[in-house]
Amino acid sequence: MPHTDYEVERNAMVDAQLIARGITDRRVLDAFRRVLRHEFVPDSLKKQAYEDHPLPIGEGQTISQPYMVAIMTESLGLKGSEKVLEIGTGSGYQTAILAELAKEVYSIERFADLADAAKKTLDGLGYKNVTVKTGDGTLGWQEQAPYDGIIVTAGAPEIPESLIKQLKESGRLVIPVGGTFSQVLTVFTKKKDKIISNEICGCVFVPLVGKEGWRVSQRN
Ligand code: SAH
Repeated sequence: MPHTDYEVERNAMVDAQLIARGITDRRVLDAFRRVLRHEFVPDSLKKQAYEDHPLPIGEGQTISQPYMVAIMTESLGLKGSEKVLEIGTGSGYQTAILAELAKEVYSIERFADLADAAKKTLDGLGYKNVTVKTGDGTLGWQEQAPYDGIIVTAGAPEIPESLIKQLKESGRLVIPVGGTFSQVLTVFTKKKDKIISNEICGCVFVPLVGKEGWRVSQRN
């Protein structure tokens, strides 16, 4: 076998970046050992795909650091039967991780070229339980609602009301909330009429730009 599937690098990433920092969900760790992260980055960056940081993917956007993808995924608490909505498809890497762990994944990306590239990568890798569309994810995806889990992979000024509405009872919304330069990764759980919030850690994401996010003119 040529060394081009980066298995050694992928397993080293799981051990040194995820397990060593406290990711414990066995299913999540196994998904990270399976998903070919190097397929989601530009050709010139493949050798860096398993390094401990984000990488550029075009349109001024980034594929998130592996640990950040892992902690967000673990926070959703997926068991395998869920319908999940992702806002911010980007490269499609987080989408693939979700597709390994949930029943159905719907994902929305603001930039059509990123959405198309992600679709192509996900199709090429054989993911059948994923649907990607171009649009403003701050409004959610009403036609497919409600969702067991919603994950937002861009930083929001506040929780988009539409996303809370599209969450099932006991469903979880994982979202970075805060300013344009740094945010707090927060998990909101819908319980009866209440929304329970749980802060996970500080984080730095590109801005969530849309009707219920940052305006285009505010984003930098
Ligand atoms: N999970 C992705 C993260 C990409 S960065 C990955 O690891 O590859 C966040 C993405 O959110 C960017 O691609 C950005 O274009 C997208 N985004 C920002 N605001 C959005 C919105 N309102 N709707 C959909 N996508 C949005």
